[in-house]
Amino acid sequence: MATVNVKINGVEYAVPQGSTVLEAARIANIDIPTLCYLKDINEIGACRLCLVEVKGARGLVTACVYPVNEGMEIFTNTPRVQASRKMNLQLILSNHEKKCLSCIRSTNCELQKLCRDYGVDEGYIKGTVNEYKIDDSSVSIIRDNNKCILCRRCVGACNNQGVGVIGANNRGFDTEISCAFGQDLASTSCINCGQCIVSCPVGALYERDDTDKIFDAIADPTKHVLICTAPSVRAQIGECFGYAPGTDCEGKMVAALRRLGFDGVFDMNFTADLTILEEANEFLSRVKNGGALPMITSCSPGWIKFCEHYYPDFVDNLSTCKSPQQMFGAIAKTYYAEKMGWDPKDIVFVSAIPCTAKKFEIGRDGQSAAGVPDVDFAVTTREVGRMIEKAGIKFRDLADEDFDDPFNVASGAGVIFGATGGVMEAALRTAAEVIEGKPLEKVEFNDVRGVEGVKLASYKIGDINLNVAVASGSGNAKKILDAVRAGELDVQFIEVMACPGGCVNGGGQPIQPASVRNSIDLAATRAAILYKADEQKDIRKSHESSAVKKIYDEYFGEPNSHKAHEILHTHYVKRGLYNNK
Ligand code: SF4
Ligand code: SF4
Ligand code: SF4
Repeated sequence: MATVNVKINGVEYAVPQGSTVLEAARIANIDIPTLCYLKDINEIGACRLCLVEVKGARGLVTACVYPVNEGMEIFTNTPRVQASRKMNLQLILSNHEKKCLSCIRSTNCELQKLCRDYGVDEGYIKGTVNEYKIDDSSVSIIRDNNKCILCRRCVGACNNQGVGVIGANNRGFDTEISCAFGQDLASTSCINCGQCIVSCPVGALYERDDTDKIFDAIADPTKHVLICTAPSVRAQIGECFGYAPGTDCEGKMVAALRRLGFDGVFDMNFTADLTILEEANEFLSRVKNGGALPMITSCSPGWIKFCEHYYPDFVDNLSTCKSPQQMFGAIAKTYYAEKMGWDPKDIVFVSAIPCTAKKFEIGRDGQSAAGVPDVDFAVTTREVGRMIEKAGIKFRDLADEDFDDPFNVASGAGVIFGATGGVMEAALRTAAEVIEGKPLEKVEFNDVRGVEGVKLASYKIGDINLNVAVASGSGNAKKILDAVRAGELDVQFIEVMACPGGCVNGGGQPIQPASVRNSIDLAATRAAILYKADEQKDIRKSHESSAVKKIYDEYFGEPNSHKAHEILHTHYVKRGLYNNK
């Protein structure tokens, strides 16, 4: 790699040619603050917080977009730089609703941290302050422009998702981030993915909080309150309690949920395995009987809504399998309710998920196997973290505990659902053994691993030449579907996860600031935990899970049976752009 020599604060470094000053400073272990810049999402040089001095340059330069060149001398922390950052923070604060005491992002707010670092308080600059109505129309996402600093990261994130329903309206002092023609978010084709939330540096975007309703349910002696946790939650919940990204906290998470008072703490990896049995058999049946191909996975509710809005002609290609969350709720209120002698109406089923779109999914038609909603509340990893904190549970001091019976057996294939390519790999492990009728020599399908937005692979399984595609990020799904539509890509099976990198990078996961997201590959770091957990499992194929075998023996009979269809499968809507119900 070609390099250039630069001096940063008087120390010499060789940095890759073409780097920006911001990237070069990172090599020197110096964090230049950014409020608008977010790697791969927003690179507009607008917030002016990353201003630095460059010898010979006229004025200060924006480090996030200014390229280095041979012999450049950069100063990141001079009094002039500090004064300019301080002034820009004062200007931002002059039109900002400063409610740090109760703000959802307090202690995790990039603006608050910078104001603390630079000693900036309210009141330096006084003037008119804009007042906005909070947009709480969506079941998933709340938008509060009173805290918005117009950085436009959310706009970049939404555009990357191939959705683009939020942008800057009006001009000058009246500029605000909102939907076209001032519509509320629920009236648009927003897919509830939450990528705008995890990109926002402040408390202007957040999920609808369901935690008080869950505390109320737990306190109600007539209710059986059950929770199950999605594969990726164990890999990220630790970030809410100061652990570094990439720390597996499964045992502590189970212990904390039990202490919150849930009557059952279950592992969604069980229904991830079940999904594979249903989905792999559905796929083989479509191949044999001429069903709609390519078949496309259906675990990601953000992706489902994206498909319904933007690619309704592919709705029949979606697997009819409910997502693992919905399957678990359906089983809890049918099979498990029967076993326990409970009325399904007395069960409150909560799913802990990395995803804001699942708050929309629980209210969809076709998700009520027992005549009541399969899932009552879908809470994000962040909400679970807040519940644990509010209850005063010392998460870091907890000893590991195990999930509850009878759903506490899961394969490694179920665990990797949380990473892009994981569902495809899990399905391939089962499909290959079913087709070939002999144990797989190697369970890893490395071609579908990794955080790239689009992955293509081909396999010869028995007599079948199988071409598969994996997309992470709905914007990347667009690329694959456009190619299939144009006849340029011949694939039989497609996995799509709405969030870039899969659920580990979901819109409901703990929010990491730009200083972290700009310097590590967060999705890859988080996904590594799931692949490690898979490696350590004795069982690595979904169809070998004893819990899955048992529920087919006792209840469903076989995959895709009539009963399985009634309880574990669903249907979709060809929405087009304007049907958002
Ligand atoms: S967005 Fe940040 S600075 Fe503003 S009120 Fe919330 S925590 Fe405080
Ligand atoms: S939730 Fe997703 S689709 Fe909706 S506004 Fe945010 S980024 Fe866009
Ligand atoms: S809502 Fe958040 S991400 Fe979007 S422009 Fe405002 S501050 Fe930036």
